[in-house]
Amino acid sequence: MTNTRIMIAGGGIGGLSLALTLHQIGVPCVVFEAASELRPLGVGINIQPNAIRELFDMNISAEALDKVGVPAKEWALVGQNGHEIYSEPRGILAGYNWPQYALHRGEFQLLLARIFCQRAGTDALQLGQRVTGYENNADGTVTALIKQSDGSTKRESGTLLIGADGIHSNVRAQMHPDQPPIHWGGAVMWRGTTRAKPIRTGASFVGLGTHKHRMVIYPISPPDPETGLAVINWIAEVTYDDPEKRDNIGWFRQVEISNFAHHFQDWKFDIYKTLWEPQLMLSIP
Ligand SMILES: Cc1cc2nc3c(=O)[nH]c(=O)nc-3n(C[C@H](O)[C@H](O)[C@H](O)COP(=O)(O)OP(=O)(O)OC[C@H]3O[C@@H](n4cnc5c(N)ncnc54)[C@H](O)[C@@H]3O)c2cc1C
Repeated sequence: MTNTRIMIAGGGIGGLSLALTLHQIGVPCVVFEAASELRPLGVGINIQPNAIRELFDMNISAEALDKVGVPAKEWALVGQNGHEIYSEPRGILAGYNWPQYALHRGEFQLLLARIFCQRAGTDALQLGQRVTGYENNADGTVTALIKQSDGSTKRESGTLLIGADGIHSNVRAQMHPDQPPIHWGGAVMWRGTTRAKPIRTGASFVGLGTHKHRMVIYPISPPDPETGLAVINWIAEVTYDDPEKRDNIGWFRQVEISNFAHHFQDWKFDIYKTLWEPQLMLSIP
């Protein structure tokens, strides 16, 4: 008998959001995720109002999102002297009906996974299942070819297979075999979080520096009521002009701060003072 479910390769933010929507509209679906355990990987990610609208429509509440992030109030571009170049309000403050959220990417993915399993059942999210390819069947269905984390293989069928398996998608590679490899532009991002006092509005996305040498800094939690400290997500980024001469060793590697801090050692200014002053001045009539 034909299996009428939709199969989704990949249980990231894209795959899980799609799965929640399909479940909501009554379409059976199953998610095959390569990782054998979901862990809160990644750091800050900004979800724009149009996407938050979809999450609210899926009955994922602001209270649930507040546990994994914070509504963003502002986007600000700042020069290397710490002076503001441009800033604008975000989300509700910018006139949207929905907020923009700065979230912990990994905790947000786990939240989506938890809600999906509660609604669709734990069998609907299958871990340790890497989709390696697919076969189109004569009756119009599709068979996903799967390698399981124990090394065994299996075949699963459905009416549709959706590739939500990330930037190195196997599904896309089979569907578009002539696509060239992904081109690396030479940007290296060192990422982390620090507990610190949030600057500017308290929920500002700050881009500091130039397009080739910059920091991105924004809180992904509200300040602790006692200490005033929030979890601050940061990216220290340098773009090299000669990427072909450098090792493209992948993005998920732990390094010591001393590996990259020298790129930013001259960036010393009183960021709290410099960045707060324009805000205070604006509030004076
Ligand atoms: C571990 C991780 C950390 C990240 N951290 C950040 C961050 O801190 N900030 C930020 O802005 N963006 C981050 N990103 C990227 C960001 O989450 C995505 O670009 C965006 O959310 C789009 O999500 P996606 O679901 O399309 O892809 P992804 O988030 O890449 O998710 C793809 C999912 O598919 C799984 N998968 C891959 N191949 C297969 C396969 N063949 N079969 C089955 N499953 C497969 C992966 O394990 C993953 O769970 C991260 C992505 C990952 C995977």
